[in-house]
Amino acid sequence: MQTNFTPEQLRDPEIQVANRILRTCVHCGFCTATCPTFLLLGDELDSPRGRIYLIKDMLEGSRAATAEVVKHVDRCLSCLGCMTTCPSGVDYMHLVDHARTHIELTYVRPWHDRMLRTLLAMVLPHPARMRLALMATAVARPFARLVPARGTFGARLGAMMRLAPRTLPPPGSVERPAVHKAQGERRGRVALLAGCAQQVLSPSINDATVRLLTRMGIEVVVARGAGCCGALTHHMGKHDAAMIAARTNIEAWSREIEGAGLDAILVNTSGCGTTVKDYGFLFRGEPKWRDRAAKVSELALDISEYLDRIGYAPTREKPGLRVAYHAACSLQHGQRVTEAPKKLLRAAGFEVAEPAEAHLCCGSAGTYNMLQPELSGRLRERKLGNIAATRPDCIAAGNIGCLTQLAGEIPAVHTVELLDWMAGGPKPAALP
Ligand code: SF4
Ligand code: SF4
Repeated sequence: MQTNFTPEQLRDPEIQVANRILRTCVHCGFCTATCPTFLLLGDELDSPRGRIYLIKDMLEGSRAATAEVVKHVDRCLSCLGCMTTCPSGVDYMHLVDHARTHIELTYVRPWHDRMLRTLLAMVLPHPARMRLALMATAVARPFARLVPARGTFGARLGAMMRLAPRTLPPPGSVERPAVHKAQGERRGRVALLAGCAQQVLSPSINDATVRLLTRMGIEVVVARGAGCCGALTHHMGKHDAAMIAARTNIEAWSREIEGAGLDAILVNTSGCGTTVKDYGFLFRGEPKWRDRAAKVSELALDISEYLDRIGYAPTREKPGLRVAYHAACSLQHGQRVTEAPKKLLRAAGFEVAEPAEAHLCCGSAGTYNMLQPELSGRLRERKLGNIAATRPDCIAAGNIGCLTQLAGEIPAVHTVELLDWMAGGPKPAALP
């Protein structure tokens, strides 16, 4: 695609990257076939190609974002399905990240939108605040029914009420900074990203991860100071907040790398994994952080990649359960990890079913299910329909966002909880 940036614009390193990305797009439109929002809405401007044109126009003109651009970029899930499909290798992820930051800096959203986004950015990345917010949601739930479900506010409130669990599990035991010793001879040493929202919603995922790894002879460090990876704020265009979170993690993990050493930095929430693997890119222009960020990204692995690498073997009899594997977008499109989770589940003795339209997003997408409840709800129904058609006993996925989104009649559990169970851990509580 031809671009028309001026030499002066091209002195900005961010514009240089955008220019390079835009010039790789050849307008072929293959990406439209796998874009969830284009499938639902049929509008070219809600396709990757349409959004690329909108972003190009906005950046070339050095213009503030318009309501029209914001509408179509906001509807993008950042599922990255278009990147897997694109034959030209267009780096849509970094282009849309740039656009979201530009929108945040140049567009004044309606007050209620601004308020909600600020609230989400202030609460979700902080476990203690999130726990309080969920307790407050439980108190507010009866009154929420008084708000009509019509309109943006009502729909968003309804979505938040649906997503908030009715009861909160007690805090987990492994998220505090600690070194969890390997059982028997030590085979490796890893850091685990304990995360933010996940440890409030489902602490059993980190518990299962630490149990399984230490049983396999891996020492697991939860590094002091490490916390939210920054993905939630990054995807809302709040670049500075995301970079602060990332720097905190880089500092914490670098201390471990330079101290006792790390074989890997493990992430068991694939949405976060995609961001941690991108730290090297995010800090490419900051000499003070560049090398350490690149090292962190180099060491970052999804838990399924690591287990596949070190070799997983079950110790229990086959459970006789059929598992529908839901491929989280961040894992299959963002990190291109497609086979390891299914291979591990099969090795554990599960019958693995692969639902139709596995490439399509479930509608979770970070805060998307709260900010775009209508589209998110339609994607959820479509995904659950495809899953139900495989007649599974449970759903397995590697991302807490998807598990929360898909929670319903069919139990949804993290892949690592199933693997831990089959290797001697407790049966996941969500299973009947
Ligand atoms: S598939 Fe790739 S090259 Fe083709 S229009 Fe989409 S982004 Fe551009
Ligand atoms: S990231 Fe997903 S929703 Fe956004 S344009 Fe690409 S395929 Fe469509």
